[in-house]
Amino acid sequence: MRVLLLFVDGVGIGARDPEKNPFARFPSPFFSFFKNEPLPVLPHNGVVIPTRADMDVSGLPQSASGQTAIFTGRNAAQALGHHQSGMPTPTLRKMLDESSLFKNVRALGKTGIFANALSQHYFDKRGERISATARALIAGGFPWLTMDDLREGRAVSHDLTNEFLRQMKFDVPLRTPAESAKILAEICEHADFTLFEFILTDMFGHNQEMSQTEEIVRRLDILLNVVLARVDLQETTVVLTSDHGNFEDLSVKTHTNNLVPTCVWGEGQHIFIERVKRLEDIAGSIEAVLL
Ligand SMILES: [Zn+2]
Repeated sequence: MRVLLLFVDGVGIGARDPEKNPFARFPSPFFSFFKNEPLPVLPHNGVVIPTRADMDVSGLPQSASGQTAIFTGRNAAQALGHHQSGMPTPTLRKMLDESSLFKNVRALGKTGIFANALSQHYFDKRGERISATARALIAGGFPWLTMDDLREGRAVSHDLTNEFLRQMKFDVPLRTPAESAKILAEICEHADFTLFEFILTDMFGHNQEMSQTEEIVRRLDILLNVVLARVDLQETTVVLTSDHGNFEDLSVKTHTNNLVPTCVWGEGQHIFIERVKRLEDIAGSIEAVLL
């Protein structure tokens, strides 16, 4: 069976408070579920598994340690003794190099794709300071998708519109979120494991501007509507998860301690229901579905 992992940065399960939570202010069929309330069955029979992001380490969960936990199945915060923001540190890089999900996918004789286009310029400019997602991909020995792939409709960008790359002066076409979601659904037919990374949720969570978040909620709705309508859920298990809370509580500029949602659609759902309680449980569940 195939797996499509939608990694959505900075989304927790927050309170039903329209003053704080964009998912309460702007109702979404996929994301309007709340803390201390019964969890719904999502469209296309998706389940929501509330997932601990704290790794038994005090303080607010952060991106580098949270993403390393998701993409290695290891307790990255405990290895460091703290939660780590930004880009992976040497300790986290070593964990990604040793235990990346993409590396394990390869060891199973399966193929992996990171659907987000990357550029040589990104690697040249950042050196060791690349994202956990890019590091995980490289550790698996799989090639990254390029700006040519993006232009030709074989890759996507994190914002689903390419606006961010165009602002950075890359010559890439504007796309609608629906067009990008359609491309993503096609990409995942070409690999056993596909990863997509969406980061605007974390950015807009830090910005705390409620009026700007409706567009982000709609973009996520379009992503899921299009992808779930196009992939064969008998063949492909679709998983959405996050590294820490943020977007669901705009009353604070920081991340939150809320549980994060792991939403799962398709035949592999039962494996996640049985196994996932914490971020560190996700990688092994994906591998179990791929087997
Ligand atoms: Zn953040």
